[in-house]
Amino acid sequence: MTFPVTSMISVEEARARILAFFERLPVERQPLLDALGQVLAEAVVAPFDIPPLDNTAMDGYAVRAVDTSGASEREPQELRVIADLAAGYVMETPVGPGDAVRIMTGAPLPPGADAIVPFEETDEPLRGVNEAARRASVVRVFKAAAAGANIRYRSEDVRQGQTVIPAGRPVRASEIGVLASIGLTTVPVFRRPVVAILSTGDEITEPGEPLQPGRIYDANAHSVAALVKSYGGIPRLLGIAHDTVEDLTRKIHEGLDADMLVTSAGVSRGDFDVVKDVLAREGAIDFWTVRMKPGKPLAFGSFMAPDGRRVPHLGLPGNPVSSMVSFELFGRPAIFKMLGKSGWERPVLRAITRDAVVNTDARRFYARCIVTTGEDGRYYADLTGPQGSGILTSMSAANGLTIIPEDQPRAEPGDEIDVMMLDWEQPAG
Ligand code: AMP
Ligand code: MG
Repeated sequence: MTFPVTSMISVEEARARILAFFERLPVERQPLLDALGQVLAEAVVAPFDIPPLDNTAMDGYAVRAVDTSGASEREPQELRVIADLAAGYVMETPVGPGDAVRIMTGAPLPPGADAIVPFEETDEPLRGVNEAARRASVVRVFKAAAAGANIRYRSEDVRQGQTVIPAGRPVRASEIGVLASIGLTTVPVFRRPVVAILSTGDEITEPGEPLQPGRIYDANAHSVAALVKSYGGIPRLLGIAHDTVEDLTRKIHEGLDADMLVTSAGVSRGDFDVVKDVLAREGAIDFWTVRMKPGKPLAFGSFMAPDGRRVPHLGLPGNPVSSMVSFELFGRPAIFKMLGKSGWERPVLRAITRDAVVNTDARRFYARCIVTTGEDGRYYADLTGPQGSGILTSMSAANGLTIIPEDQPRAEPGDEIDVMMLDWEQPAG
């Protein structure tokens, strides 16, 4: 065969070579909610104070604190109720000596008032549960209020001109809330990468089609598309290419308007894997054996798009677990880099394995496991069962991958091991 085969490389080396090819994508303006998971391209500065005015943190009565001094249940202070103020309305009449304004949470503090007495510290609850009955022209205050009590001050959250969110921050639910609170409807973010995904192999059948003997349904395109989507990219499914030069070439060309092309299968040493030949002929491509399990064979290179761009191509192994784990280790960081995200590392925790983990072929072993918290507060890892790279249900059952080093032939029950967490949910059943 004519393609170059490099020697075994480490996961880190493969990732470094891959990441060197990617850059952050250009900026686009997105509607707020659509920007979820993207990265802010510019710092956002507050156009006004939040809160915009001093306001009450409680339902109660706005008063002059001095008018409540000495108040107790036995000797309440009686104040005149001069108004009823709901949130969203501004009162201009000042609160004078002996006055109180019945006020709802969020309503701006009336001029002259400097404290809020909560309903619970007045006779209002004693007047019953009926809203109308609770209103009265006089309120009895049972407790002295300190000046400033239960008031939220203007700009205590955000001051006008202040950077509320720095450039480079990923947009999460809280960022969307903050951006909405300053009135924004769109936001500048780095564009999401479009990832074209192609399955290869004569045996692969699209779900929904009848399954001929000897054939299997396409798992990889769909699992990888789901990963792309959950990591913030836009998956574009190209379908399935037969193991012929013509079909493969044609379908690869259909994906060349994407930011990245992902293929699955055809990168191992099988006789009918024409993918390698087509890739070697059509693009600049390296075939690597990465020192990892599952997922030893991996291809990475690029194709020349009609517009002269070089489209990076990640060739995943065909086995469904290998394909997902390889995309996790190499595709996810690439997507993050294009999105402008800085940290792509997954959290790694130390867990006590309850199973023996056997790792005889000197590769890093990413065994599928379930991490739970024990009654002693420590993390425990259980393998999901058989670890064959075709056993996709092992991924479905897992919430983490063990990281058993290349030079460690086994871990015994009770040993502490590293686990890379894929998510924090603990699959049930
Ligand atoms: P290959 O890399 O072509 O040697 O494929 C390795 C194994 O993965 C074979 O058993 C294939 O049938 C299987 N395989 C390849 N592509 C897919 C796919 N898209 N979905 C599920 N299994 C696949
Ligand atoms: Mg094949």
